[in-house]
Amino acid sequence: MTTVRARLRVEGVVQGVGFRPFAHALATRLALGGLVGNDAAGVFVEVEGDPAAVGAFQDALHREAPPLAVIERVTAEPLAPIGERVFRIVASRPGSTRTLVSPDTATCAACLAEVADPGDRRHRHPFASCTHCGPRFTIVTDVPYDRQSTTMAGFEMCDDCRREYTDPADRRYHAQPICCPACGPRLRLLDATGTPVDGDPIAGAAALLDAGAVLAVKGLGGYHVAADAADEHAVATLRSRKHREDKPFAVLVPDLGWARRLCVVDAAAEAVLTGPRRPIVLLPRRADAGVAHAVAPGNASLGLVLPYTPLHTLLAGAVGRPFVLTSGNTSDEPIAYRDDDAATRLAGIVDATLTHDRPIHTRTDDSVVRVFRDREYPIRRSRGYVPHPVPLPVAARRPVLACGAELKNTFCLARDRHAFVSHHIGDLENHETHRSFTEGIAHFRRLFDITPEVVAHDLHPEYLSTKYALALEGVEHVGVQHHHAHVASCLADNGETGPVIGVALDGLGFGTDTTLWGGEFLLADLTDHRRLGHLEPVRMPGGAAAVREPWRMAAAHLAAAFPDGPPGGLDVVGRHADRWDAVTAMARTGLNAPLTSSAGRLFDAVAALLGVRDITTYEGQAAIELEQRADPAHTGSYPVRISDGAPFRVQGADLVRAVVADALAGVPVPAVAARFHRGLAATVVAGCERARAATGETTVALSGGVWQNVLLLATAVAGLEGAGFRVLTHSRVPTNDGGISLGQAAVAAARMR
Ligand code: ZN
Ligand code: ZN
Ligand code: FE
Repeated sequence: MTTVRARLRVEGVVQGVGFRPFAHALATRLALGGLVGNDAAGVFVEVEGDPAAVGAFQDALHREAPPLAVIERVTAEPLAPIGERVFRIVASRPGSTRTLVSPDTATCAACLAEVADPGDRRHRHPFASCTHCGPRFTIVTDVPYDRQSTTMAGFEMCDDCRREYTDPADRRYHAQPICCPACGPRLRLLDATGTPVDGDPIAGAAALLDAGAVLAVKGLGGYHVAADAADEHAVATLRSRKHREDKPFAVLVPDLGWARRLCVVDAAAEAVLTGPRRPIVLLPRRADAGVAHAVAPGNASLGLVLPYTPLHTLLAGAVGRPFVLTSGNTSDEPIAYRDDDAATRLAGIVDATLTHDRPIHTRTDDSVVRVFRDREYPIRRSRGYVPHPVPLPVAARRPVLACGAELKNTFCLARDRHAFVSHHIGDLENHETHRSFTEGIAHFRRLFDITPEVVAHDLHPEYLSTKYALALEGVEHVGVQHHHAHVASCLADNGETGPVIGVALDGLGFGTDTTLWGGEFLLADLTDHRRLGHLEPVRMPGGAAAVREPWRMAAAHLAAAFPDGPPGGLDVVGRHADRWDAVTAMARTGLNAPLTSSAGRLFDAVAALLGVRDITTYEGQAAIELEQRADPAHTGSYPVRISDGAPFRVQGADLVRAVVADALAGVPVPAVAARFHRGLAATVVAGCERARAATGETTVALSGGVWQNVLLLATAVAGLEGAGFRVLTHSRVPTNDGGISLGQAAVAAARMR
């Protein structure tokens, strides 16, 4: 019988995910000899035996790979047979590591079964994990990925754990976070003074939640605060202590059945909710959802998350019903993750703390997604997703650092086809956040062995990310216009290079003419863009104050829409009578009132006109609430004219006049809001038709923060498809400024070509 031998190279996320024991088991099953090991490029395999079995091995390598493995490439070459009959796992070969760290992953079914089994030695162990699940990115301190390079380094394995760890046939072979009740981290419940409470910490914590207390819970990427979701007083207490006025809280539900009781969960949403990345999923709330009003005031959706560690599973099981689980911080600060810092910062917020002694190395928030057309539509990309790379459509021939935007910041390190988009950093104006930004960049540089030669940044000179980029010496700087970066991020998200018609509807971004853009029709590919059209600019009376106070935008849009003054009887004028004339004067003269073509500010104006929101307490609030109030059951739309010229100009004033007319006629807010959405979506279609006539392009890419609005998105996509366009939307990175760093990196890479 002939025998063949082959060498296979496997690249991708193949280390720390159980790949070698998988290869061992597979080769043994197929009666093949050979070896498998890790090296700098991934996994190397040599297999020898019957030719058909070697072929079957190669097929199964893809088909049966362990759940956390992401195989990017397998290359094979023939070797001379040496008569090897036994398959071995061999020592790792050293070298600079270019392999990929996997994201933190929700507890697998096998581990959950052990935790639930009274006969198992990990029964009720809050830290059970294996090669297929558990903490990764949040505990990695250095490379190469082994026990010593994680925050588990301080825990000495017991004999039982070591046996599992060194047994290739075991599910925990080389599972770096391996531990058990005998040797692992310890859970503790601390009272408000930091004194340990006697008894079972889980039972104690559950009893406190049941009694209406506010509890800190140390999770994977930071501390959360929890309160009984049905307890109006507990949730209101949490809200006031956190100084968070309106922004919705996420709710942890014990299981899928509870999710269905609170929200409408279709098959696609169920897959995301229960998937290994386990994000918070924003879902339509049931009218009879038994959740306190204070959880998500004025919101028709709820953010639900299922337990993703045994600790959360045990706590949810003990409580037996949903509880709020929101980031442990006061508003505007990043989530607390160091024990001493959390104790200080959460002291005034919580009545007790459920904590443990496994350190968190990288602060990582929960990810947040919506579901659009059966796919994930990311709002915040962090735990569970990071640091898995996004493929670049054009490889970066030189290493790139992209510094991202100012709000909802992420950064991105890229080399070749890999773009490592960072975890959600947050708003850089905060000192703590800025530290996360600089430390995060240093950490990623080490983890992925990337020394940037090209640094991409926004054009806004006041963004701290821009200042950081420009202060780096000895590198090439690449400035990328904000909305070009948005469109490029959508292209990269879809693996495309353009050209496309990019529709960037956004809050604010620095334009190439130094005005603030945000309602843009661009002809764009990865290297460049041209402004084909935009919303007619209006003034922002008071500049930044107009972002926080949507009623100022109402005044500005009314001044633009009614040159002789708006009709009488508008409530918004009466509500701000003392300052209305002064603010309107700013809008008319332009004094301390910069111009903007922002679609986000148009949403603000309409929200204030309808009495939905005059002053915001978090970014995008007015637009979010206007979407929530719209009832698509109401028919009708508002026509909008587009002025000729290059660039063409969309007359947003038509929308404002139509909204005013309906409001004064007593049309209910849900109907006006629905018509406004429909009118804006139709305007997007009309703008794209102009752009197509001018350029011949038939593909549209939708990006920018305003597209977080799924009502607008669904209406516009349907309209565009009806008009014969192919439409690209996001599914890997957020459409908001969290995606900007990927767009910047994609542009920088494409410009190297
Ligand atoms: Zn597991
Ligand atoms: Zn142990
Ligand atoms: Fe933006």
